[in-house]
Amino acid sequence: MLRLAEIKLPLDHHDSALREAVCARLAVPDSAIRALTVFKRSYDARRSSQQLIYIVDLDVAGEDALLKKFKGDPHVGATPDMNYYYVGQAPATLPCRPLVVGFGPCGIFAALILAQMGFRPIVLERGKEVRQRTKDTWGLWRKNVLNPESNVQYGEGGAGTFSDGKLYSQIKDPRYLGRKVIDEFVKAGAPEEIVYVAKPHIGTFKLVTMVEKMRATIIELGGEIRFEHKVTDLLLEGDGDTRQLRGVVLENGEQLLSDHVVMALGHSARDTFEMLHARGVYMEAKPFSIGCRIEHPQSLIDKARHGKHAGHPILGAADYKLVHHAKNGRAVYSFCMCPGGTVVAAASEPGRLVTNGMSQYSRNERNANSALVVSITPEDYPGDGPLAGIALQRQLEELAFKLGGENYEAPAQLVGDFLAGKPSTQLGEVEPSYKPGVKMSDLASILPPYAVEAMREALPAFDRQIRGYTMHDAVLTGLETRTSSPLRITRGDDLQSLNVRGLYPAGEGAGYAGGILSAGVDGIRIAEAVAKSMLGLH
Ligand code: FAD
Repeated sequence: MLRLAEIKLPLDHHDSALREAVCARLAVPDSAIRALTVFKRSYDARRSSQQLIYIVDLDVAGEDALLKKFKGDPHVGATPDMNYYYVGQAPATLPCRPLVVGFGPCGIFAALILAQMGFRPIVLERGKEVRQRTKDTWGLWRKNVLNPESNVQYGEGGAGTFSDGKLYSQIKDPRYLGRKVIDEFVKAGAPEEIVYVAKPHIGTFKLVTMVEKMRATIIELGGEIRFEHKVTDLLLEGDGDTRQLRGVVLENGEQLLSDHVVMALGHSARDTFEMLHARGVYMEAKPFSIGCRIEHPQSLIDKARHGKHAGHPILGAADYKLVHHAKNGRAVYSFCMCPGGTVVAAASEPGRLVTNGMSQYSRNERNANSALVVSITPEDYPGDGPLAGIALQRQLEELAFKLGGENYEAPAQLVGDFLAGKPSTQLGEVEPSYKPGVKMSDLASILPPYAVEAMREALPAFDRQIRGYTMHDAVLTGLETRTSSPLRITRGDDLQSLNVRGLYPAGEGAGYAGGILSAGVDGIRIAEAVAKSMLGLH
């Protein structure tokens, strides 16, 4: 197969234009092209360009001659092998079954790959199966009732279930593991276009059914999934830095034995992080970011980003990505931008409030939302030690809960008032989407002063890139505190904990992923590490 990049076509090109452009570029007749598949389709939104850019894979007559002819051309080459190859196959009788703690994207892929290799994993998930979990999550959004064990963060599908389902990542991926994640998602019912569009997304409703299908596949392959099974302790053998994990203890007192335990906990399992720390598992504080959500009318973003093409069906609702380096040394940036989506209540602890964003596949809600966050480092945390970032998150989430009225309504402020340094008292033309509701207030009173200073500097800079970004009535809702894990459970080259053999820290909570795709990729890598260890391969 031959890969050809940088084929540029206008947005409204006719069906045969791509094939014609490919033939013209390679100077071959149409009959030479036996098959053409789009590997990637992106959109260059710059006003000077506004075109679709394709990368295609071709089964073409005379491939070797073409590769010779275009040698040195950076846009023509052989298609790389993107197939996934398993590192091994489990023996017919297993000495022990691996455990996977957590059934978010990382745990799902760790369990799926282990199951596909025949290792029959047992998954332990503290939350409920996805349909029941959805009801509990809506309980917070509709009735102000938080279930601390079944919510946006905990339960089947993990944190990514009620999300925009954006599936892109900037991780280095020389083995195309991201492709394996995408292919498995398509098998589970995701739209096929996620294979080739540059910024794929799935939306929350589709994710729910996909997660159920992936669960069924793991079970068919001999795996087991146990919901409402919270891991509360470790069974350890030995001393010092050579301890071996022999299994885990569940909240109901049950013990499960295994020498291979994947911990794919997500970034919100604070009680489990505390338990691991108390058991001496090596971990360290790491930087993350804090801030709030910002909401604009989606039409404003569409117009600023797509100009005359705003609303074009191929482009859908426009997104954006903004960064500003403030004079006080802080980076301010947009994060987890959800076009045509809603701001969601994402708390998992009573008396604490945190926001996030999600959307449906159609992305047709009235507002665009994005986190607007400021980078922080362990020097900003109260106290020392690996858990100090959690202490800061809790402080901020408690302040947000109080300012919102102590009923899970979120404090909100108009951008114009935030910039002018005064509390908001009423909404303007932008109706915020956060449920159960917002209370107008002064977000600057609960954010650290350095964050407020940096955000006030960044907003006008962002307005220069997206005209109208600082519109007076745009709404800030807060606080956003769970942008990534506040700690890293450091692992060695064999992907095991630095000081507990058999413990495989994984995914976002362990500090090795940020987002659905990278968490899935990390799950694959962890499954491979477990398999290699169980098979004695090094
Ligand atoms: P998680 O998904 O957090 O899963 C961890 C699981 O472990 C949870 O189900 C939890 O219940 C379980 N668990 C924790 N402790 C225990 C225990 N002691 N015993 C048993 N089980 C336990 N990312 C994107 O890429 N695109 C998006 O559009 C996007 N939108 C998001 C929207 C929202 C509202 C949220 C909250 C997150 C969003 N994210 C998005 C981030 C993404 O969801 C996470 O990066 C991803 O889910 C991390 O995967 P994970 O498997 O590492 O952890």
